Amino acid sequence: MSHVSVSQHPGAFSVLMTSHKENEAWKEAAEAEDRNFRPTKANGGRRKAPFYKVMQGMPIAVDAFRYGLIPNVTAYFLTHAHSDHYTNLSANWKNGPIYCSEGTANLIVLMLGVDRKWVHPLPMNIATVLPDTGGVTCTPIEANHCPGSCLFLFEGPQTINAGDSAYKSLFIGSKRIFRYLHCGDFRASPQHVNHPAVKGKHLDHVYLDTTYLDPKYCFPPQRQVITACAELARRLVAGESLGDNGCKQGGRVDSWFTRVGKPKREDDNKSADKTLVVVGTYSIGKERIVKAIANALQTKVYSDPRKTAILRCQSDPELDALLTSDPLDAGIHLLPLGTIASDKLKIYLERWKGHYSKVIGFRPTGWTFSAPSGSETLPAIQSVISRSQAVSFTHASLNPMKSSTSTLQVYGVPYSEHSSFFELTCFALSLNWGRMIATVNVGSESSRGKMSKWVEKWDSERKKRGNGEVVRPRDPDYW
Ligand SMILES: [Zn+2]
Repeated sequence: MSHVSVSQHPGAFSVLMTSHKENEAWKEAAEAEDRNFRPTKANGGRRKAPFYKVMQGMPIAVDAFRYGLIPNVTAYFLTHAHSDHYTNLSANWKNGPIYCSEGTANLIVLMLGVDRKWVHPLPMNIATVLPDTGGVTCTPIEANHCPGSCLFLFEGPQTINAGDSAYKSLFIGSKRIFRYLHCGDFRASPQHVNHPAVKGKHLDHVYLDTTYLDPKYCFPPQRQVITACAELARRLVAGESLGDNGCKQGGRVDSWFTRVGKPKREDDNKSADKTLVVVGTYSIGKERIVKAIANALQTKVYSDPRKTAILRCQSDPELDALLTSDPLDAGIHLLPLGTIASDKLKIYLERWKGHYSKVIGFRPTGWTFSAPSGSETLPAIQSVISRSQAVSFTHASLNPMKSSTSTLQVYGVPYSEHSSFFELTCFALSLNWGRMIATVNVGSESSRGKMSKWVEKWDSERKKRGNGEVVRPRDPDYW
């Protein structure tokens, strides 16, 4: 990330780190993440935290439990309860206070046994002063990732070079207020850039979830996908037509529930001929699809007791009201993602013989949508925006997998809880930032180089458009 290391902010404090220094810091970070690392006396028994895990000039670490007690860090933040973000966090934690959302706090106490005395849930959307940080405040903002996930906006002076990096900030002790937006994992939305704590402000650093920072990652807005799944489930269970797309599939889907010689009865769904909907989940996340399908089918949701306890951590009254411990009282069952395959679902359906005779499986996986063939690898920003906004996703866009039969249908769903490339682009163009710091796929120099090319493109494009001018969204919730 060469050019982007120099802040575009025209103030006296614009240069935060020279590009040479930043390259060195990335090399240092790569060494710290060495796979062959073994704790010894010589290395202090712990991995060194890469520079991007500790907020510059502040005693604050984010998603850095893996590194144990980090020098001079007095506040440990957790963006959300996915395992790659809380690595090493356990019942033995004693290195300092942990700040997170209320939902995440409940989850780490339940799943990891972290002692409550360390866990400090922060109120959402409000700037809270953090003790022992030299006056830094944190505003948690809903990340649009899994339940409880947050973006953290830190605002305050630089008071200390905390962490392990050899690269020191030049601004320790200055009166300037620095502003960092840490995105954890997120799905960028207009709500983020229009948030009152963010809108119109200069962000010195944005720590970006760069999981899909590549134009090949194009997938539809979550809300369209959720609505599509709910509508498809409703039509299939009701035996309604699926429209044009179903017919294009050789009429197979269309005729699935209306086979010849078996006219649909009024009480079909109350008899043993009922249809079970199963949704695959592997950790927290994807609950919004489940709620939408449950509402469309007017039915309850069953999951095993462990999963149910995890779902209840979210303190979501709408979800709580849908949950039942009786599998026969629920038209939707939540199963591990790996179970949503024809052979396994066949066995699962047999368990409910006499109650359910058909099953529809939804397999929401991160990225199952392929870019149109022949799409450019380096498209112009404006064409990325106009092309993405022209696409819409409906129930007719969902196709059953090849192995589907008359009683068993499996649908892959392009449901992502990370930003698409297009959404990252809109997010970056709509904010006023100094430095964009990638936090995912940063292990190799070539991957970092590819990403920094895009950050440079965003930077010049947003200057053309007017710094921080929000890209016009299709909906208040998505671009
Ligand atoms: Zn995550």
